[in-house]
Amino acid sequence: MSGATEEKFRVEIISDECKGCLRCVNACPREVIVPTDQVNMMGVVYVEYADEGCIGCGACFYACPEPGAITVYEKKK
Ligand code: SF4
Ligand code: SF4
Repeated sequence: MSGATEEKFRVEIISDECKGCLRCVNACPREVIVPTDQVNMMGVVYVEYADEGCIGCGACFYACPEPGAITVYEKKK
């Protein structure tokens, strides 16, 4: 690693499980979950993780009504 701050958390969103309700987007204090401009197999616009900035608070996970759509991982060293 040189220079850049290492991310401690990783957020995985299964696009085909997402119903596009945006609860996670509204719940995230860091605004690092964002809507895409793509639709999933259910025809809804899904969201994605911006790939950096997550602090691991879990708010997105608890806000999501779809079990398994969002998982927050703590990265191992
Ligand atoms: S765990 Fe918290 S900071 Fe990370 S994406 Fe979810 S709501 Fe945002
Ligand atoms: S809360 Fe869950 S279902 Fe709603 S937009 Fe976020 S990932 Fe999709």
